[in-house]
Amino acid sequence: MLLTSSLALLLLLAPAWQAPDWTAIAAEAVATLQGYVRTDTSNPPGDVTKAADFLTGILTREGIEVKRFESAPGRVIVLARLKGDGTGGKAILLESHMDVVPTDPARWTKDPFGAEISDGRIWGRGTIDMKGIGTSYLYAFIMLHRQKVPLTRDVLLMFVPDEEIGGELGAKWMLKNHYDELDPEYVIDEGGFGSRDMFTAGKLVFGISVAEKKLIWLRLRAEGVAGHGSQPHNQNPNDHLMKALSRLFAEPIAAAPFPVVATMKERIGGPLTDNKFNNAIQQSTMSLTSLRSGVGDPPKANVIPSVAEATIDCRLLPGTTEAQWIAEVKRRLADPTISVEVINASDDPVVTPQDTPMYRALEAAIIRRHPDAVVTPMTVPYGTDGNAYRPRGVKSYGIFTGIIPAESILSMHGDSEFIPVDAIGPAIQILFEALRDTATTRK
Ligand SMILES: [Zn+2]
Repeated sequence: MLLTSSLALLLLLAPAWQAPDWTAIAAEAVATLQGYVRTDTSNPPGDVTKAADFLTGILTREGIEVKRFESAPGRVIVLARLKGDGTGGKAILLESHMDVVPTDPARWTKDPFGAEISDGRIWGRGTIDMKGIGTSYLYAFIMLHRQKVPLTRDVLLMFVPDEEIGGELGAKWMLKNHYDELDPEYVIDEGGFGSRDMFTAGKLVFGISVAEKKLIWLRLRAEGVAGHGSQPHNQNPNDHLMKALSRLFAEPIAAAPFPVVATMKERIGGPLTDNKFNNAIQQSTMSLTSLRSGVGDPPKANVIPSVAEATIDCRLLPGTTEAQWIAEVKRRLADPTISVEVINASDDPVVTPQDTPMYRALEAAIIRRHPDAVVTPMTVPYGTDGNAYRPRGVKSYGIFTGIIPAESILSMHGDSEFIPVDAIGPAIQILFEALRDTATTRK
């Protein structure tokens, strides 16, 4: 009886509780993503004003108030807030960067800023890194507002500039100058994703990034004696640097055990597929990224220079300290005349725990939609803005809640970047549910 009358009441109330039309929302988001990609935010030069205006316009039309900050000319930060009553704790921050890496249009077969849709894919710079992801955050946020979800904590949406060149005028600037505007318990940013072929073939795996490797950029410098190229001598810095570099890269880097990777393998039930992404998250790595030498521009072919330099991009798994790594580099170089200078280093890695309501809500929302999926904590080979919050005790998760093929992930920063059209809608819905479930409970 009670059940029947409750049911009748529910039916009566049905129009007010109407479920969102997720198909229409997905279509709306795809159109927004196209407009966003067409707004060129290449960095350098890194001016994001037009993209910030575009996003501000969308939020304002929804009736959501937007605050804007400018860390430097053209470096605009967009911050929107959905107010909670505060009984649930501190805020959840959805953060994404607006800037993209530059393109070489001659190498693209599509217009990098055309956002053309073909073969079920949206093509263009930033589709995967990270305007597509940012668009899923935007619509999960907008849906909380449209559905009038009674929030017990604030949910923030922030779009930042400058990530692709280190974030000093974007996320890090906000952390330094306006932390009181954010003060989140959780940050959601890029990092992990769902894929059927990236981690292991034929199994749907969603990785939620909980840690990043430590970045160390090194400049190696060999000094010698300049002279005429017709008379070789033994103080040519090019010879010294070349031989030392070949020793540096000759030995493979020993695999170091890292619990997050061990958990990944355990959840997935076997080894990770052999690809450059998976290889990089299982060990510390280094890449030779530049070689600079010669006298004049273009360098003279008949002059032995007095200086030769190289830069090395090192990414360390947690567990190896900067001092240990530098000692290892010097041991391998085996040439005390070559100087080793640290030109950039990130904080020591902090691992965000997975035993939190936000992580569990993400996992639950993913499994509701994809009962066959494996959800696992993971680490990413690159750096993201979300990591900057971890040393402050903020729980930071890197996740795009859509399913993307390995080909899409590996197209990041390349000349055929794309995101599958059908990844967008489900990503919005899963993130919306995870946010709703985390931001409506009381402490
Ligand atoms: Zn990115």
